Amino acid sequence: MDELQYQFELLSAMDQKLSVDEKMFQMLCNTSSSAFLYCSFEDDIIRTFGNWKLFFPIEIQEQKDIKQLYDCIEDKYILKLKELLFLEKKSRRNESAVVRMKEKNLWVKCETVVTYNEKKEPKEKVIRFQNITKLKNQHEELTYMAYYDIMTGLYNRNYFVRLLGDFVRKAEEERKCVAVMFIDIDDFRKINDGFSIVTGDEIIQQFGQFLNSFSSSHVIVSHFNSDIYCIAVYDPCGSRSVEHIYRMIRERLRWPFSLSNALDLSITVSMGVAEYPEATKTTLELINCAEIVMFRSKAMGKNSIQYFNEPMVDDFRQNISIENKLKEAIFDRSFMMYFQPQYNAKDRGLRGVEALIRWRDKDGNMISPSVFIPIAEKNGSIVPIGEWVIEESVRTFAEWKKKYQHKLILSLNISSIQYKRSDFVSKLIKTLQRYHVKPSEVELEITESVLIDDLKEITNKLIALRDYGIRISLDDFGTGYSSLSYLKGLPIDTLKIDKTFIDTVVSDKNSKIITESIIYMVKKLGFETVAEGVETKEQFEYLQSIECDNIQGYFMGRPMPPDKVEELLRQLPKSN
Ligand code: C2E
Ligand code: CA
Ligand code: CA
Repeated sequence: MDELQYQFELLSAMDQKLSVDEKMFQMLCNTSSSAFLYCSFEDDIIRTFGNWKLFFPIEIQEQKDIKQLYDCIEDKYILKLKELLFLEKKSRRNESAVVRMKEKNLWVKCETVVTYNEKKEPKEKVIRFQNITKLKNQHEELTYMAYYDIMTGLYNRNYFVRLLGDFVRKAEEERKCVAVMFIDIDDFRKINDGFSIVTGDEIIQQFGQFLNSFSSSHVIVSHFNSDIYCIAVYDPCGSRSVEHIYRMIRERLRWPFSLSNALDLSITVSMGVAEYPEATKTTLELINCAEIVMFRSKAMGKNSIQYFNEPMVDDFRQNISIENKLKEAIFDRSFMMYFQPQYNAKDRGLRGVEALIRWRDKDGNMISPSVFIPIAEKNGSIVPIGEWVIEESVRTFAEWKKKYQHKLILSLNISSIQYKRSDFVSKLIKTLQRYHVKPSEVELEITESVLIDDLKEITNKLIALRDYGIRISLDDFGTGYSSLSYLKGLPIDTLKIDKTFIDTVVSDKNSKIITESIIYMVKKLGFETVAEGVETKEQFEYLQSIECDNIQGYFMGRPMPPDKVEELLRQLPKSN
């Protein structure tokens, strides 16, 4: 009896434990947001648990009910689910898949767990269905942001680079071309500043939408940022040739964009084109080349298209490299001053010297000032360079003065950027005072572009300089906007006739007439003349005969380092 009692208590304890476990299991299933499908291969049982109703409006009790599950999900995911649900004995390892429900619009993650018996045969399988809609939407948004530009809906730069990479690889295999068109809206800042950023954004969107009409399996359209778009064309030809696309864009831009604030706004664009494999074989380089060519198109007056050519890109790269080297050169003291003599035409006496900067870069190459001065003007380094030129030239000039006591004029080239500095005049005067150089011994050479920039402000500065006694010379006369009539109002002392006139002055009748009349008029206005770039005896004698005051050029003397100037000074009589 005791034994029976014992057996009974044991059984009821086990039963109690079982029911506790079962209750826990039930609770877990009920509170879970997932649904489960259980299948035992050995007993041929199929059960559903958990939040089944959230996912499926059907009951599953036996194998044949499974088919109804497939009706609940979108067609393209059926195969995936079938593979996963495969409820045969040979059912395999743990797997997962994401499917989309038809009516409920849910994204569902399905995961399987398989258990095995001692013989390593599948024993049971559980499939868990989990609602991941929120996660998936977030992921989709992130994916969207990773691939697309929010403002235009076009591909963004990163994704464009990837797709272009695919094009390039394919083109390599199929021996085809890929064209990259780099497009930039002209004067976009004016739209943003002149109207509003919202207006600018709307233009970017509308133009982007228009460009999107070229999209196809062979054409990728992207928006890089701000007003920059890039199009890649695989095997450009026919209606997807660069010329055709460009023509269509031009055609569209003949009409303004109608904006939401009732404004009609027209734009023009500059475009640069580079092709694989002609320009380069790598993706990023291809974009880079197209961009460089686009800059060229801007420099040529905008609203145009330019095609890659080697020298264009070499030039650009050289400029960049010069720009980088320039930054170091200022600290490295790798600049030198050379001086070119100027002579009186009548008696061949030395009038003075023009200070000309020289630069030998780290690799020992001489870089011409006509190459690096414009770059220095663009990036602002002309200011410290110009200050160094003034300091070094005035210091050298003062030494000569002390040593040889000649009355000479030091001509200095000054860029418009330097004139614009508010402290330019005061700094210059201080330098002259420090080295005891008289203002009348210094002549500043300016070009007409200086005057064009801001005539009134510059003229006032020139007047101040002249009042102080400094001479002003108009350089390169005849190359720019030259008109003798506006010279009248300018505070200048000297006019330098450009080399281009001098080059043909002996051979060309027109050039002769122009030069003669310039000299005649300039003399009437009371200015001194200097002829630049005089290279031959004939030129010299001719200029002498028409009473040009001064001569500068290789015929009389090349630009030279200070010690060579000293040799020259030593030979001169002191009272010059
Ligand atoms: P620029 O002021 O017109 O200087 C005259 C240029 O003509 C100099 O070139 C000179 O070497 C060259 N030249 C003189 N005589 C002859 C000749 O008979 N035949 C030929 N073929 N050339 C002759 P460089 O020194 O190469 O300077 C070029 C330009 O760079 C200058 O033209 C000037 O605009 C600028 N530059 C030079 N030094 C400075 C400087 O210190 N500051 C600034 N802002 N610009 C400078
Ligand atoms: Ca000059
Ligand atoms: Ca000149």
